[in-house]
Amino acid sequence: MFKNFKSVTKTAYGRGSFDKLDEILEEKRPTPDACMVFLVDDVFQSKPGVKDRIPVRGNDVLLWINVAKEPTTEQVDKIRDDVLRDKGLPAGIIGIGGGSVMDLAKATSLMFTNEGSSTLYQGLNLVKKPGIYHVGVPTISGTGAEVSMTAVLTGPTKKLGLKCDWTVFDQIVLDPDLLDGVDRNQWFYTGMDCYIHCVESMTGTQKNTFSEAYGWKALELCKEVFLDSDNGRSKENEEKLMVASYMGGLSLTYSEVGVCHALSYGLSKIFDIHHGIANCIAFNQLKDVYGDFVDEFHTMVEKHKIDIPKNLSAQWNEEDIDAMAEVAIKLEHMWNHAFGANWKKVLDKDRIKGWYRKM
Ligand code: NAD
Ligand code: ZN
Repeated sequence: MFKNFKSVTKTAYGRGSFDKLDEILEEKRPTPDACMVFLVDDVFQSKPGVKDRIPVRGNDVLLWINVAKEPTTEQVDKIRDDVLRDKGLPAGIIGIGGGSVMDLAKATSLMFTNEGSSTLYQGLNLVKKPGIYHVGVPTISGTGAEVSMTAVLTGPTKKLGLKCDWTVFDQIVLDPDLLDGVDRNQWFYTGMDCYIHCVESMTGTQKNTFSEAYGWKALELCKEVFLDSDNGRSKENEEKLMVASYMGGLSLTYSEVGVCHALSYGLSKIFDIHHGIANCIAFNQLKDVYGDFVDEFHTMVEKHKIDIPKNLSAQWNEEDIDAMAEVAIKLEHMWNHAFGANWKKVLDKDRIKGWYRKM
């Protein structure tokens, strides 16, 4: 199997590294008044400890992003159009937040230089030109969006990433201090995204030595955080989870996600359920595919007393279930990875609907 992947160009890691961001950006400003666009999760609007340290200079744009809804193609197009109208082409874009804000920054970087709506570029290698300089600063750990080559967007008809070499960040800043204050359930849901990435990446047909090396290490770190320690939220564990997220993302880069993500995308697209919790809802019912990993997941849920919504299907009608199954079945690359090239022999829409009915 031939793979030839682009990696993040520069990675800053360590507590306090966020304070180096100004210095890092300075090198990328062609003139002192060049414009940088900061997309920042609006949860930080009320957190002076981070808000006051965002290195915004004279001509920069700072946009507070509400992530109650996951990023959309419409949102990306609007940010691009507004900034181009008011400032012209910026020198760079920085996403400070979770997977939602980082994906927004990655996608908008590409759309500054590619014409038309971002809906045109949802898929693999559809983007025509490199985007502008882009930086990711994660503030919650698990998605691996800081290192992955995709920027997942919800569009009018599909939830699908803009995936190409140019999507990958030019720079990431991994500062575990930024993880302070994440809500407990959200910490678990996003953390489990990493756990599930590893399980899916290593159990499908596209697994290989690279994906397994990163995946097993990330899984080991997840277990240290969520199973073996009494205080999952200790400083040491926050550091481990930040690195696990990065490695889980790399494991995926060399492999693919599987059944849980396909089902999760259906939940997100039809009911706007956020990625992390949607994964947990789906994974909870996938013992027939992921066996002992699902038992281990249940142990972690119980240990941390996390609320995973159940019996949701009691509220769904047949149309809802059909719509989710339709979203899921189109994600052929995930089924191909999970069950092999002949996946249609073991999977049809009815089997997918069966999983949704259990949720
Ligand atoms: P998120 O970015 O949606 O944020 C979840 C919640 O955590 C929000 O309420 C946010 O305000 C809050 N939050 C973030 N940092 C915080 C902090 N330090 N303190 C307090 N609250 C904080 O969550 P996520 O799970 O990181 O990202 C989900 C998104 O990532 C989805 O859109 C999903 O599609 C995408 N994703 C992308 C990839 C990829 O490879 N590009 C992989 C997986 C998921
Ligand atoms: Zn995921």
